[in-house]
Amino acid sequence: MQPRSGPGSAMPVVLIIDDQVTNCHIYSRLAASAAADVRTKPFLDAQRALDWLAQNEADLIIADYKMPKMDGAEFTRRLRKLPDYADVPVIVITSYDDRDFRLDALDAGATDFVLSPIDHYELTTRVRNLLELRRHQLLLKTRARKLEQELERSEQSRDKLLLDSREELAQVIDTVPAMISAADISGKCIFVNAPFAAMAGTSVAQLAGRDAAAAFGEVFAQRSRDLDRVVLETGQPFRDLEEEIVDCDGTKRVLLTTKSPLRDATGQKIGVLTTATDITDRKRDEGRLRVMALTDPLTGLPNRYALRKQLRTELARSRRGSGDFALHFMDLDRFKAINDAFGHQVGDKLLGLVATRLRETMQQGETIARLGGDEFAILQPAVQGRDDAANCARRVLAALEAPFACQEQSFSVGASVGTTLYPQDGDDADEILRRADLALYQAKAEEPGTFRLFDADMDLRAREIMAMEVGLRTALERNEFVLHYQPQLDLRTGRISGVEALLRWKWTGFGLVAPGRFLPIAEKSGLMASINEWVIRTACAQAAIWRKTIPGQVRMAVNISPTQFRSYDLKKIVVSALEETGLPPDLLELELTESILFAANSAEMLREISNLGVQLSVDDFGTGYSSLSYLKRFPINRLKIDQTFVRHLDTDVHDAAIVKAVLHLGRSLQLRVTAEGVETAEQLHHLHQAGCHEIQGFYFSTPLPAAECEALLRRTERDPFRVPAEVEAA
Ligand code: C2E
Ligand code: MG
Ligand code: MG
Repeated sequence: MQPRSGPGSAMPVVLIIDDQVTNCHIYSRLAASAAADVRTKPFLDAQRALDWLAQNEADLIIADYKMPKMDGAEFTRRLRKLPDYADVPVIVITSYDDRDFRLDALDAGATDFVLSPIDHYELTTRVRNLLELRRHQLLLKTRARKLEQELERSEQSRDKLLLDSREELAQVIDTVPAMISAADISGKCIFVNAPFAAMAGTSVAQLAGRDAAAAFGEVFAQRSRDLDRVVLETGQPFRDLEEEIVDCDGTKRVLLTTKSPLRDATGQKIGVLTTATDITDRKRDEGRLRVMALTDPLTGLPNRYALRKQLRTELARSRRGSGDFALHFMDLDRFKAINDAFGHQVGDKLLGLVATRLRETMQQGETIARLGGDEFAILQPAVQGRDDAANCARRVLAALEAPFACQEQSFSVGASVGTTLYPQDGDDADEILRRADLALYQAKAEEPGTFRLFDADMDLRAREIMAMEVGLRTALERNEFVLHYQPQLDLRTGRISGVEALLRWKWTGFGLVAPGRFLPIAEKSGLMASINEWVIRTACAQAAIWRKTIPGQVRMAVNISPTQFRSYDLKKIVVSALEETGLPPDLLELELTESILFAANSAEMLREISNLGVQLSVDDFGTGYSSLSYLKRFPINRLKIDQTFVRHLDTDVHDAAIVKAVLHLGRSLQLRVTAEGVETAEQLHHLHQAGCHEIQGFYFSTPLPAAECEALLRRTERDPFRVPAEVEAA
């Protein structure tokens, strides 16, 4: 059948069947007059009509009931069976008495009846009405079909959309860097993404419908099930659980897991959605950072921060009754000098060796830390009183006593230790640390190479130090420094050949303070350079005066501190002091310590100073380095034998041997030798016998204020010193 272009758009077709030609005619005419454009199609034979209808379209059919081969009812029945003719109006024409026929026709599907003989007007009206009905029918049909098509189209596109978005979602979920899985209420996997399957070393399909967590072992699966149960029971998500799994390669991984309930459209809980992010790398980096933050990179020991942490832990444990503990601070005595002299590479190596030796010495449970520089700390848990703590400190000192071999040299670094005990010496970390530091400071100040247990006096001392620091800052401008002069006696002439300028601080309100007490503080507070400069200028000025006022030549010896040497232009100061005062350079002597001589950069400047004519001596000779190579490298004029060798000269054969050796060395290198700290006639005699011709010490004179020293100088000029006869005889 040809589809119509649109309802009512084509001309309506009325098909007429009657075996009577006349009737056909009349009906055709009447139908054609029912409306404009009506086309009629008359048929005398019902079958023919049906054949035509199978190929064509009609909008209305008028059929006579009584026909020879096929009656109107039968025709209608067959017509209704044709596709598209289920609802095309059919008018059947029957006679008045044909009631049964009418019922039969109705039964077959006829729409209307017209009695024969027909009333023309009635037929025309019926035709018009039924055509109108048909037009509406077609209109509705077309609309319905359109709607249907639209619906179909939209359903198709919705399905496609849904399909597409489902695929996209799956793609997204598979590329999300997280393991995503969903389990139903019974624990069966209803969904896993590709990363989950990859981690399990299997495929998504393999896991579906199983207990997916079991891919990572029963322990993991059991925990996962337990958690799922909790989520289902409470309806609440379970966030940020850190858990460890072993992946399909046997690698341990850390996951950050979140579980939330899955609900259907009605809100009913139908399962659990699990999302797990692999945070293995992050954890490893965090771990590394933590280790780095807590470790001293040079020695691999815990650092200051780690020690504080450990200290807090120890405090908490002690408070819970796990026993007392001790904290030891340790500082290397000669490290700075070695570091300056041999460079950082040697210094670093040495610190590494020290750390190794400390590690070897430590006992179970003890922690060693490097606090920075040459400072170390030892935390000694479960300490049994002060003796136990003292033993640990001794152990540390003993361990560092033997020299360290480093770059084909041998270094004796020595160490001092300060010790605090919990709870006696403080009950919080800061106080314990501060007091350990104080005790160390005391050890270093009083007797390097030893240990000190904290005591309450140290706090007083610390306060004193602070007060000193404040006082020192204004000491120069308040003119509180003075120089005392200690004569150096030439035993051959009995005259004073030189004096050593020794600094004193007249601290307002506190009296005279010895350099040993305030110089280290001045050093730490950065005041040393200006103090040293003042000393050089004042000493030169004094020497210049004595040169003019006193017969005889008095050399002025000035002590030079290592910091002065490092950070200050010593040569410039010396030159300007000599110029200012007019002192001949050879009447100035600079006393250098062995650590200055070892400083890598000192040779050049010393040579320049020596070239000026200024004398150079090595102070405290014998206490520093065993290597004497510097004596050849530097223009040294004098060695000052340290007083520690002189002190026991009479009783200690080693000291006597050392003094002898130094004198011998002096002779062979053509250096003068001065013995310091000579306190007794016996010492004097001994030195004299050994060939030491210059001495300095309380035996002859203590350091004196300028006026007294001047008086002594005049007196000695007049009346030279004579080595006591009885001693000489002894
Ligand atoms: P030093 O250069 O070795 O000075 C000798 C020290 O020994 C002086 O101590 C002196 O008073 C002391 N002394 C002298 N004879 C005897 C004795 O017979 N027996 C004993 N037991 N001691 C004796 P002082 O004046 O306390 O100075 C200590 C150190 O302070 C000096 O040691 C020196 O290294 C340093 N110093 C002193 N004045 C200055 C200064 O102006 N500048 C610098 N940089 N350091 C200075
Ligand atoms: Mg000196
Ligand atoms: Mg000395």
